[in-house]
Amino acid sequence: MYDLVIRNGLIIGADGKIAADLAIDGERIAAIGTRLEGRRVLDAGGCYVIPGGIDPHVHLQMPLAGLVSSDSFTSGTVAAACGGTTTIIDFVEPQPGQFMLEALAWRRAEAAEQVAIDFGLHMTIPTWHAAEADRLDEVAAVVEAGCLSFKMYQAYAGMILDDVSLLRALTAVGQAGGRTVLHSETGPVLDMLREEARAEGHLEPIWHAYTRPAQLEASAVHRAAELADLAGCPLYIFHVGCRESVEEIIKARHRGIDIWGETCPQYLLLNAEEHLGGLNGELYVCAPPLRSIDDNQAMWLALAQNDLHVVSTDHCPWTKEEKRRDDFTSIPGGVPSIEARLSLIHHMGVNAGLLTLERWVQVCSTNAARWMGLKGKGRLAPGCDADIVIFDPARVKYIAPDTLHEAAGWTPYEGMEVTGWPRTVLSRGAVIVEDEQYVGHPGHGRFVERS
Ligand code: MN
Repeated sequence: MYDLVIRNGLIIGADGKIAADLAIDGERIAAIGTRLEGRRVLDAGGCYVIPGGIDPHVHLQMPLAGLVSSDSFTSGTVAAACGGTTTIIDFVEPQPGQFMLEALAWRRAEAAEQVAIDFGLHMTIPTWHAAEADRLDEVAAVVEAGCLSFKMYQAYAGMILDDVSLLRALTAVGQAGGRTVLHSETGPVLDMLREEARAEGHLEPIWHAYTRPAQLEASAVHRAAELADLAGCPLYIFHVGCRESVEEIIKARHRGIDIWGETCPQYLLLNAEEHLGGLNGELYVCAPPLRSIDDNQAMWLALAQNDLHVVSTDHCPWTKEEKRRDDFTSIPGGVPSIEARLSLIHHMGVNAGLLTLERWVQVCSTNAARWMGLKGKGRLAPGCDADIVIFDPARVKYIAPDTLHEAAGWTPYEGMEVTGWPRTVLSRGAVIVEDEQYVGHPGHGRFVERS
């Protein structure tokens, strides 16, 4: 007799699917088989049983220029849970002069008391940390503390690493057995183009896209891939949205470079002309910018062909008021989608015939678990964490701010109807969403030490 058995579902993993029961003891999966008996039984008839979604790129209660992103660790992780995501990875941003371990302890504690689901943290290496060689001595201890991945930037004042600093940081991370996640855009050239546009009086949101051309994303990816290879550091390119960057990733992989690419719903479903160039274009400012419909299609194809490997959200929500600025260069960047990610990719990917069910599970869960070192997550097998979604593929959900738990008060996907939505969600064996209602408690989530 197991603690809990999920009956009659179609169990879908990265490698295949099987109609079977799944049994849980405590926090772990105990067995997959037929006629399993449990003290508690959940019927998954007509539903998929999949590993909980993993969103390895979110920004909850993130301070930026006097603002804080709209979702707290509580509201953001409750929204994630309701959408079938059971693990997120957020960020630590050490301040000038602050030790990375101190910043990690602080951010970890801030999140831990609030989170509805498990979480990890990426360690940011800002400009000042890379500039002081002895600061990087701390990298090994940060890896040891369960923070396996380091965030680096090729753009943004205060964050940017020039090629020398980037190589130095990549080498330190590679030697410590860590890995690097990267914001790839050629920042100094973008800054010049943005200043030129402003000087000519171009302040509208569409200029956000005009001044961040795809070539300057792709050339940054190219340089970073070469530097990561020299440094011996695995590299993961965040939020790829243009065909040119995918081509650089493919070429680098053909040369044997250890590089992965991630995209996000906004680069699959939204485009610059219609959204950034439309009414309320400021809402759609995020970096890299939205691209073209042609690029959207290229991202779907790249996902299907394993040229891109993960769909995260880069969830970085701001209210409409916060995003309303007269000048495109001062709009806080980012869009929300932490809750609808799994269903958006199911509806627009699987239902549209672009992705198989297995590929959907890979890009929304299994691959991120593997690359990010989330042991025991992203798979349904005995011994793994019982992070599980019972997903009803026939449930029609109307997406709008009041049907979601996100706090921004708007969503880029408002008015969309998706077919397929999570019914019940388990986090380490505990039912935290039941019949689409959140029934867990904030603070349930734990920091996951990644290795
Ligand atoms: Mn981001």
